[in-house]
Amino acid sequence: MKNKDHYHRYGNYPFRIDTNNGGIYIEGNSNNPNNQPRIFVYMKDNNIHNFGHEIVHYLDGKYNKYGDANMFPSEEITWWSEGLAEYISHGKK
Ligand SMILES: [Zn+2]
Repeated sequence: MKNKDHYHRYGNYPFRIDTNNGGIYIEGNSNNPNNQPRIFVYMKDNNIHNFGHEIVHYLDGKYNKYGDANMFPSEEITWWSEGLAEYISHGKK
């Protein structure tokens, strides 16, 4: 979205996402062949804020977790997902 204000204003309606974050990845129902995963982010300082983090979640869901991670214990998969996204998206930091 254009900026954080738009993210807060339009995130809940019409997109029905939580906006108490810096962006979000929504897997959807990965068992549905017509499923369309979605990434919601916004512009900040001429950059797409947290896009690197959210695209890692997308790739992780597609190639590692096989969807929304129901096949793994939730605490362990959250540790994996967030750690991987932060590690890769922040590079040398
Ligand atoms: Zn994350």
